[in-house]
Amino acid sequence: MSRFFSSRNAAVEPYTPGEQPRDMQYIKLNTNESPYPPSPKAAAMAAEAAARLQLYSDPQCRDLNAAAAAHFAVGTDELLFTNGSDEILDYAVRAFCGPERGMVCPDITYSFYPVLAAVHRIRYTEIPLTKDFRIRLEDYRGVKGMVLLANPNAPTGIALSRAALEDFIAEDPERLVLVDEAYVDFGGESCLPLIRQYDNLIVTQTFSKSRSMAGARLGVGFAAKELIADMNAIKYSSNPYNVNSMTMAAGIGALLDGEYTRSCIAKIVDTREVFVEKLREMGYDVLPSSTNFVFAKSPRLGGQELYRKLRERGILVRHFETPRLRDYNRITIGTPGQMDALLAALRILEKTEEGK
Ligand code: PMP
Repeated sequence: MSRFFSSRNAAVEPYTPGEQPRDMQYIKLNTNESPYPPSPKAAAMAAEAAARLQLYSDPQCRDLNAAAAAHFAVGTDELLFTNGSDEILDYAVRAFCGPERGMVCPDITYSFYPVLAAVHRIRYTEIPLTKDFRIRLEDYRGVKGMVLLANPNAPTGIALSRAALEDFIAEDPERLVLVDEAYVDFGGESCLPLIRQYDNLIVTQTFSKSRSMAGARLGVGFAAKELIADMNAIKYSSNPYNVNSMTMAAGIGALLDGEYTRSCIAKIVDTREVFVEKLREMGYDVLPSSTNFVFAKSPRLGGQELYRKLRERGILVRHFETPRLRDYNRITIGTPGQMDALLAALRILEKTEEGK
């Protein structure tokens, strides 16, 4: 740290992204990326846009907004595109949290949330998950602040129903609820249809997962137009050209190619179901996943040990060394071939352990 780093940042502990090693070719199942390339239409439209990079991108994202409004059946004033969904989360925290409103999140969730709270010096309240890693909405009753829930949650993969969330959102119109739907396309129920009815709801989604565009950085928030206007005020006060023109074009291409997205999702969900079944046959404890990853615990090997041994064999998964998570690993669903390679490695490791 330099001597100029402001004391304002004293509480900041930066987010640690999943590792992206370059020492060898890994089977990369650690950052919940799609194993499939983006839609050819998205790639072609991004390439076309690259020829006009001398121009600024459209700060209003008009073409992308129009395509998304039609696709998601919302108004163009009910959505806001950002540089990945991390950025819409940042805008929401900056727009709505402060001395009068803190953040309230599960104790086990996307680890970027507490980082946002720290960097913006927002009070952060953690509500423990149940023993079986579920969010119990009753536990959030009466807690003051913006409730931020990943649904499905990460790294557990477990989803809440839309009906349960709607009851919670309806219960207190003065409580703001942000539902982070980064993984919703793999089996969750979206709260997007509720934004017209509830002006205390924000829904965020990403193009990083189901649309295979993690490297393009495209996220989106949906909410009543007053909330979107507030978040736009933050955008225009920090990063007016937040979405670059290649990404905007790719986003339009992806939305026009819904068939491609659906086929990728179907392949990933099918692969997940087969993989989960095989893991359970091997005695693994696997949480019920509505996402493109599974959270699993070996019957014999510790989480850290399994992570390390897989890494030695060229397979990367994500390990969290915290008391409640350390027995598990989060495994992204790759291609069927990648999952077979992982299963083969796991069988060898389990056998070696059994023979000890
Ligand atoms: N929400 C959750 C729950 C996530 O796991 C992630 C990243 N993996 C994000 C949001 C942010 O994704 P992105 O910025 O790529 O849209």
